Amino acid sequence: MNVGAWIGLGANLGDARAALRVAVRALAALPGTRVLRVSSLYRSAPVDAGGPDYLNAVAELDTPLAPLALLHALQSIEQAAGRERPYRNAPRTLDLDLLLHGDERLDSPELTVPHPRMGERAFVLLPLAELAPGLVRAEQLAAVTGQRIERVEQDWVGF
Ligand code: ADP
Ligand code: MG
Repeated sequence: MNVGAWIGLGANLGDARAALRVAVRALAALPGTRVLRVSSLYRSAPVDAGGPDYLNAVAELDTPLAPLALLHALQSIEQAAGRERPYRNAPRTLDLDLLLHGDERLDSPELTVPHPRMGERAFVLLPLAELAPGLVRAEQLAAVTGQRIERVEQDWVGF
């Protein structure tokens, strides 16, 4: 049975916009999976890190993949984009986070869902609220107003 899953996409190295477009196409190519909607593209300041600004977006999937299978698929897509992990919060060619997977609640070292830090990050909350206002609370948005972020482009990905 398929469920709705929400993916946070980010990149701040190389051609970040191109990397995010390729990533959305790769998500749409996962077994049995459809990309239902993709948010606008946002530009955000790195959180707890240096390096160039990020481009971010959120995508809504309809997928038969279980949470761990979906995480592993996301990691394969990151690897294909040349993702390296030299140190914590290092700049990255592509970061794909599993934000929500239906009503699932999981807490293991490998996978925590809902994503443990999504509620504190403007670059997740703003694109998520654009697509699904009901999933984001006003207090959460109020708490991230200090984080620099701007919406840069609508309809930036065709798939
Ligand atoms: P970041 O937290 O900056 O996205 P990484 O992408 O390097 O860092 O992810 C670090 C680890 O987080 C991964 O090895 C993965 O197993 C784990 N992880 C736990 N929960 C999640 C989740 N919901 N989505 C993505 N990765 C997760
Ligand atoms: Mg990640």
